[in-house]
Amino acid sequence: MSEKVVIIGSGPAAWTAAIYASRADLEPLVFAGRPKQSPSLVLPGGQLMLTTEVENYPGFPEGITGPKMMAAFEQQAVRFGTRIQTDDGQRPDVSDPDDGHSYKYHDCKGVDLSSRPFKAFDEDGSAIETQALIVATGATANWLGLENEQRLARSGGGVSACAVCDGALPIFRDKELAVVGGGDSAVEEASYLTKFASKVYIIHRRDELRASGIMAKRVKDNPKVEILWNTVITDVLGDEKIEGLKLKDTQNGKEREMPVGGLFLAIGHTPATDFLEGQLDLDEKKYIKLKDPFRTTTSVEGVFAAGDVVDSFYRQAVTAAGMGCKAALDAERFLAEQE
Ligand code: NAP
Repeated sequence: MSEKVVIIGSGPAAWTAAIYASRADLEPLVFAGRPKQSPSLVLPGGQLMLTTEVENYPGFPEGITGPKMMAAFEQQAVRFGTRIQTDDGQRPDVSDPDDGHSYKYHDCKGVDLSSRPFKAFDEDGSAIETQALIVATGATANWLGLENEQRLARSGGGVSACAVCDGALPIFRDKELAVVGGGDSAVEEASYLTKFASKVYIIHRRDELRASGIMAKRVKDNPKVEILWNTVITDVLGDEKIEGLKLKDTQNGKEREMPVGGLFLAIGHTPATDFLEGQLDLDEKKYIKLKDPFRTTTSVEGVFAAGDVVDSFYRQAVTAAGMGCKAALDAERFLAEQE
């Protein structure tokens, strides 16, 4: 028996696609992904699982934590008949974020899109056939890979990979903050953070920004921003909350400590597309290429993509959810046309 639609992913795009597909009686089957500890932490639910308060998702005037929000998305999808591939078979789950159920969620190890029905390969080696496929595997923020950085990011201790998501939180107000990176994201996030911070340091490993000229000029002209050139972070200091950074000058090798009240990573993202290599058209940075920018169609008819796995630009929960909705509607129409 072939599935009507398989969804790979478990962030806002994937669960929104699952909500729409299940309400359209497509009984979607979701590969929500197994948690991983290294090289950096990846959890079912995606990047919101590493976010403390979400204050910019409409409908939550008091804010909501990322994990609670993802559990609610999942619960809503399961309520309408979404199934999740787990150690215990394909079953709806109870969506209690504290019961450890997500540790049983399976990875999709690869796909064969050469003919329909497509095949999605479960981590146990079995092949699941499907008439349509929605890829919403997201992108992971790149981290420096320091143990204390990961620990404080996980505990809401003032280390974040998204200034737009977290920068306005009370813990960062009127503090001296640091942004690491030298691209457009780093300068944009540094500018954004100056609204709340007393000062923002951009810590860049080279002596020249990668960011576009106009955006680089904006931070250089901003009196609240100071760029620390040729500098790398060798440790993040603080027990429950970040208190400072250990820095190293790459030119003379000198180390020093600098107090900060927050650290924002802006060193790029990596889309989760390794398992698609050779099956779908990807761009030079390995994001899935859409056939039409206003749709979710990909280079293979019947395969749709949504969320951060196609979008290196907006990367917001609400934009991903919107795309997940579009992908489910595109899949539904595609399946209706096939009939
Ligand atoms: P990016 O352009 O790839 O820049 C990443 C930055 O992080 C680089 O400066 C890089 O240093 C640094 N970096 C990478 N790994 C590092 C490490 N391990 N330790 C220290 N530094 C490290 O990524 P992005 O800034 O996220 O931008 C991604 C894309 O989105 C770009 O095409 C960008 O133009 C676009 N974007 C556009 C806007 C806008 O137009 N408003 C805003 C945001 C992003 P090096 O320079 O030394 O390689």
